[in-house]
Order: sequence, then C-alpha cells, then structure tokens
Amino acid sequence: MMLLEIEGLQAFYGRSQALFSVNLSVDEGEVVALMGRNGMGKTTTIRSACKILPYRHGSVRFRGRDLGPLRSHRVARLGVGLVPEGRRCFPNLTVHENLVVAARPGEWTLERVNAMFPRLKERQRQSSSTLSGGEQQMLAIGRALMTNPKLLILDEATEGLAPVIRREIWSAVSQLKMAGQSILIVDKTLKELMKVADRCSILERGTSVWDGPPSDLNKDIQDRFLGV
Ligand code: ATP
Repeated sequence: MMLLEIEGLQAFYGRSQALFSVNLSVDEGEVVALMGRNGMGKTTTIRSACKILPYRHGSVRFRGRDLGPLRSHRVARLGVGLVPEGRRCFPNLTVHENLVVAARPGEWTLERVNAMFPRLKERQRQSSSTLSGGEQQMLAIGRALMTNPKLLILDEATEGLAPVIRREIWSAVSQLKMAGQSILIVDKTLKELMKVADRCSILERGTSVWDGPPSDLNKDIQDRFLGV
C-alpha cells in the first residue's frame, strides 16, 4: 500500500478548472519531486491532497484511507506535515514556542530539530517575526517535523533564499531522506531536486504527463515539460 496515492484528481478555483487529471503516489521512505512549469498545478495538487482546497473528482488516499470526507486538520493529524509556499509561522510566538506547540510524540524532538538547524537553537528566545526569510523557512520545516509526519510536503522551500541558506535547506532535505523520511517536494532548482529525488512526477496544465526516476529524465523530456 502506498503512503499517498492520488488518482484522477480534478480541482477548481470557482468555475476555473486547475487540475484535470493528476496521478501521483509516494511510497514509504520515498522522496518524490513534483515538477512542472509555473502555473501547471503543483501547489494546487498539494493543497488538494491536504484538503485545504476541496477536490471534486478523483481520489486521494493516505495509507489506504480515503481523504475525501476529511477536513485539513484531520489530514494533518493522520500524518501529513505540510510546509506551505510562503512559510507561515506564528509571528507572536518565539522560535522555541513555535516548535513546542507543534510537538507530537515520535522520533523528531526539539533536540533533533535544533541539531538539524543550529540557527533555530541560537534564536530560540527570539520572536519568530525577527527571523530572516531563511530562518523562517527552517522554522517552518522544524515545526512540520515536530508533528512527526509520516509524509513531509515541502512546497518551494528554497524559493527566494540566499545561496548559503539554500545549501543548508538542501542539506537538511538529504539528511531527512537518509533518515528514511517520506517526502513530497516542489522546487525550482532542478539540479538539487534530481539529486535528492527517488522519483519525479511532471504536471503539464493540470495533468500528469510523466513519471519516472531522475536518471530517465533526459534533456528531451526536460525541454518538453520543464522548459530548461
Ligand atoms: P507556481 O510554480 O507558479 O506556484 P504551480 O504549478 O504551483 O505554479 P498552481 O499555483 O497550482 O501552479 O496553479 C495552477 C493553476 O491554477 C494556474 O493556472 C493558476 O493561475 C490557477 N490558480 C492558482 N491559484 C488560484 C486561485 N487562488 N484562484 C484562481 N486560480 C488560481
């Protein structure tokens, strides 16, 4: 049984259809990169899978369970840890508070999160609104890990960050992969994405068009679907 299995997913913003037929799966321990040019439906797929956006047709199953009837907080409690585009933390809480309020029992503890992101430990008493963009992103990832998710979803986690911070985030992602964390990831940096992904899944205008290991993602497919 797949951890996450999306089949024939369709989603709409009002009357405008954004997803036509999305098929996507993430197995236990797998890192899957969801790819496609701007506006092709990556964020919409993630938001539908987390039930932030209701979907109309198709199915989303998490560990065999149909997410159709569930609200987003229930999906989170089942073990889906989303780090949304634009990293939202609670600005009126300190770094430490942001992490501990998210905590649920499991392997990921405050100590482990602080070891992965030493900057967060250094700033634990600061209000999270005083953090740099990169530090806020680390905090958003740390918060998601504190919930001990069975599946971690990262949407554009390195977007708009300084190169040194991006490297720290990618290093964290590869540490997570080595620790066996299942991850669904969207990112613009194709090179890093292909290094870390076990499998890539490409969307073109709201439709799944290609799925395979990064080693099969040749220049031809990249030109056709990713515009590089
Ligand atoms: P990007 O990399 O630019 O974030 P994406 O692949 O994540 O792109 P989505 O954000 O999922 O793409 O957008 C898919 C389609 O849905 C696009 O045509 C977009 O214009 C449309 N869309 C996204 N958000 C909304 C919204 N809130 N209201 C209406 N249409 C939207």
